[in-house]
Amino acid sequence: MQTIGYAAQTAETPLAPFAFERRELRPNDVAIEILYCGVCHSDLHQARNDWGFSTYPLVPGHEIVGRVIGTGADVTRYKQGDKVAVGCIVDSCQHCDQCHAGEEQLCRNVVTQTYNGQDRITGETTYGGYSRHIVVREEFVLSVPDALDLAKAAPLLCAGITTWSPLRTWGVGPGSRIGVIGLGGLGHMAVKLAHAMGAHVTVISRSDAKKDDALALGAEALLVSADPDAMAAAASSFDLIIDTIPVRHDVTPYMPLLDIDATLVIVGQLGPIDETSTLPLLMGRRRLSGSPIGGIAETQEMLDFCARMNVLPDCEMIAIQDINHAFERMERADVRYRFVIDMASMPEAV
Ligand SMILES: [Zn+2]
Ligand SMILES: [Zn+2]
Repeated sequence: MQTIGYAAQTAETPLAPFAFERRELRPNDVAIEILYCGVCHSDLHQARNDWGFSTYPLVPGHEIVGRVIGTGADVTRYKQGDKVAVGCIVDSCQHCDQCHAGEEQLCRNVVTQTYNGQDRITGETTYGGYSRHIVVREEFVLSVPDALDLAKAAPLLCAGITTWSPLRTWGVGPGSRIGVIGLGGLGHMAVKLAHAMGAHVTVISRSDAKKDDALALGAEALLVSADPDAMAAAASSFDLIIDTIPVRHDVTPYMPLLDIDATLVIVGQLGPIDETSTLPLLMGRRRLSGSPIGGIAETQEMLDFCARMNVLPDCEMIAIQDINHAFERMERADVRYRFVIDMASMPEAV
């Protein structure tokens, strides 16, 4: 299938129109017309090869929602016209212990990324959701409940599941005391989801500039990390802290905020953090962890929860032609809280 997307041709060039082929449908494949695609911070990192493993041309995008336009002969779960979604992964080995446990994101044999990954059969580079169409095996296609607004649902596929998964892993529920560091794309979803689960949510921020926003999103309080008295008063008062800071930083000031046996889980920064002390870890039997997205079943659970509880990201809709400007704004943290590309803006031809 001939299609069109926006691609980076090198780490230095802006995204531009790019014509390419989606594969012929295999028996278990679903062909999707993409209607909306969220813009994740990792799209920017990978377009610019910040992590050193980008291959070009690179078509970013792993927060995809759309409609089914075709199915392979063996597909049973989806039919033409269904509202569907695709997140950060499009394949895994399907036979290791992690895949059997529904934790495909932790596949022992390396999960296949939605873009800048390698197709498991042909070895070809995968292209993401900044495009008109995508073809994905049915096991990695999610169903979008009717109650979810398609135009806003896209960021759930990365920002949503990335924060949902640790909330579920660490058993968050009514009365849980949750801290959220950083109030960007991930952080605002962590606040909304934890609040909808009945948790008591505190946003932890450098200043109180975002206090009104934090409270409007569902937080009960904002803790100013630059205020030593407030930080001391909040010692040992959290069951779980979700750290969404997307750059290198120091976790040391936050560790004493955890109660005994509580965990700080890093979901934003992929790479080094500053040197830290084990003192608060040992003295409070506290834990420092990380977490990547979630499995397919868990992603479906999150979409169903969001439909039931009416949880949706705050989105700013853009045309694909605005993507390079959106990247610049994202670097300045000038977005509330997620850009979503309206794929109706994609040109018919290059
Ligand atoms: Zn992402
Ligand atoms: Zn596997």
